[in-house]
Amino acid sequence: MLSRVLCQVARYFNKMVPEVVFVLGAPGAGKGTQCSLISKEYDFVHLSAGDLLREERQRPGSEYGEMIEQKIRNGEIVPVEVTCSLLHKAMQKSGKTRFLIDGFPRNKDNLEGWNREMSDKTKLLFVLFFECSKELCTERCLGRGAAGSGRSDDNPESLHKRFNTYLKDTMPIIEYYDQKGLVRKINAEVAPNEVFKYVKNAFESSGIQIVN
Ligand code: UDP
Ligand code: MG
Repeated sequence: MLSRVLCQVARYFNKMVPEVVFVLGAPGAGKGTQCSLISKEYDFVHLSAGDLLREERQRPGSEYGEMIEQKIRNGEIVPVEVTCSLLHKAMQKSGKTRFLIDGFPRNKDNLEGWNREMSDKTKLLFVLFFECSKELCTERCLGRGAAGSGRSDDNPESLHKRFNTYLKDTMPIIEYYDQKGLVRKINAEVAPNEVFKYVKNAFESSGIQIVN
């Protein structure tokens, strides 16, 4: 209650409220690659929901380890209570105020959970949406697997499931934000430095400056 009031006061003065950019796109579209490029030049902390879940899976004593592994391998989405609390903790730990949230929200449960817990503690600036064909994304993920990504889901079987989840569950979330005028579509089928040029345009047209 108190934090809600404080947050509203902070928002009233238009400062201190953490700002977020959601980064969405098919598996292998290049979300992680672009987020690391962005965080080098802009004052945004890169938080990958998938990486946070993989870290939690490895944490000794985690009560969620097995469930997370099973979901990841099957290309299913972990319940939002787990993901949202990992994101929230990472935001607080960083001590920063601007975040790229990579690979989240991925379904209705994620969206509703975020809206319940975080939407009045944060300001959503926009959603970066990396558009890339299924063929190219598959090629990239399998390439990443063959090159030793060590990920238990970079194999043809998991990928097939991840894609189905993406089409069935994540696309409606992107459409939801698109209807609100918040989606910045990026052509992600070209080389990373070319994609990054489009990303920079999106940041620039939202009035966000390079800092490094
Ligand atoms: N995942 C999830 N919730 C999230 C983000 C990821 O459950 O908010 C799980 C899901 O099983 C997904 C996997 O983690 O398939 C890998 O996600 P990541 O974003 O790392 O994969 P990418 O899309 O970047 O290939
Ligand atoms: Mg990723």
